Order: sequence, then C-alpha cells, then structure tokens
Amino acid sequence: MPTTVDDSLFSSLDPVALRGSECSCGATVFPALGSCPVCTGVDVTDVALPTDGIVWSWTTQHFEPKPPFRTDEFAPFSIGYVDLGPVIVEGWLLGRTEWVIGEPVRLVLTKAWTDGDTVVHTYAFEAAS
Ligand SMILES: [Zn+2]
Repeated sequence: MPTTVDDSLFSSLDPVALRGSECSCGATVFPALGSCPVCTGVDVTDVALPTDGIVWSWTTQHFEPKPPFRTDEFAPFSIGYVDLGPVIVEGWLLGRTEWVIGEPVRLVLTKAWTDGDTVVHTYAFEAAS
C-alpha cells in the first residue's frame, strides 16, 4: 500500500480514484465533506470521482511551493483545475509546462516527496493522449 499525503483524499489507490462526496441536492465536492457547502444538508455520500477529465484552467509556477507543500527537487511545474464532470479538482499537471484548455487528462498517483526511505504519494493528472 503506497504512503500518501492524506489517505482521506482517496477512494482507492490501485486503481487510483479520488474520494469526493455527493449530496442529495446534486452537489459533488472534493475533498469529501460531512455536510454540503451548497445547501448545508448532511445527506451526503462518499463517492469515487471519475478519473478522466479535461483541463478547465491551468498555470505554470516558476517558484518553489511554500510549506506545507514540498518537493525533493524543484523545477517549474503546472497546476490545473481539471473538470471531472461532477466537480472541478485542482492538482498538478505532470510532464510539461504548457497545456490547452479542454485537453483530456487522467488521474495518476505520483511521488510528492520522500521522507527517509518512504516515498510519499499524491494525486496528479497527466495528458490522456
Ligand atoms: Zn447539498
């Protein structure tokens, strides 16, 4: 079982899927919450979010992330908002620093940093084509 930055973010790790919550009013949020930020109701259920989406917006950061975010070795990196259908999720966009809004991406588990001998994983998105 891989070590993650926060196990509560995940519905499953193999295959990787994010854990959101769906309210009876129709709202879906990530990360999962015990009550709905739209209607304030508590009739919410954990759901595994879709793993394929499209880039909704993105930017590339050319400076090191500030704590509590960490990396082992810094290089400019892209952050995107990915539209998974029921919800838009923020996450790293891996593999390059130029993206196109609307381009298909898929969820992956990736190394966030290492703690001694332990690789700590987080979620990210990579180009789907
Ligand atoms: Zn609701």
